[in-house]
Amino acid sequence: MRAAWVKTPLTPPYRGPVSAPRPRQADTVRGMAQVLVVEDDATIRSSLIRGLTERGHAVDSASTAMAGLERAVSGRPDVVVLDLGLPDLDGKAMLRMLRGVSAVPVVVATARDDEAEIVAVLDAGADDYVVKPFGVAQLDARIRAVLRRGADEAQDQTVTVGGLTVDPRSRRAVLDGTSLELTPREFDLLHYLAARAGEVVGKRELLTEVWQLPYGGADKTVDVHLSWLRRKLGETAQQPRYLQAVRGVGVRLAAPGD
Ligand code: CA
Repeated sequence: MRAAWVKTPLTPPYRGPVSAPRPRQADTVRGMAQVLVVEDDATIRSSLIRGLTERGHAVDSASTAMAGLERAVSGRPDVVVLDLGLPDLDGKAMLRMLRGVSAVPVVVATARDDEAEIVAVLDAGADDYVVKPFGVAQLDARIRAVLRRGADEAQDQTVTVGGLTVDPRSRRAVLDGTSLELTPREFDLLHYLAARAGEVVGKRELLTEVWQLPYGGADKTVDVHLSWLRRKLGETAQQPRYLQAVRGVGVRLAAPGD
């Protein structure tokens, strides 16, 4: 049974302005991604694969719209680069089909520098476009921009883990229908862990990402805040529910029983 939380008489040592924690989105924050290139021209395709691979991306490719759709669903890329002039299906039609099954960011490569065409493509669900002929550097910049936008949106999204809901916009956390009274730092810590639910997060990372402090050997700050957070979540280190300590590594937030 979960103990009722009693307001602590202690004032937690929260200092400075609140900065929202920045949950890491794997490698996409650093601008490296799984890219799917859908392009029927073999010369352009291989030059894009080579150029994007040199820039650190993992590249998959398809030469038709149908193969591209299949790869987009089965390969779960971070971003799709889509040529509009494909042999089997109009690029806009493919985009609409893709949008029916996936929200993956799409950068369209169009040979037509035609405003109406570009507007139609953006309306059909593209996130950005490049006009042929374009260099890999420009395409890479567009890819990184759409990935950053995606990461920013993910950072603002409400996270639900079991009976716990954390909403970064209203800065409210609710557990089993009851609003938690958290200090700003406790909220940031909970949000950071909830956004990475299921992953073990190291204390060093928490200190640098949530507190924006360098890690100093015997720093107990993270431990102290985790124990406050535990208490507010109605659990103890001995009987954890959401916050599971992984000895010598860090802490993992997961739904009870997961
Ligand atoms: Ca083409």
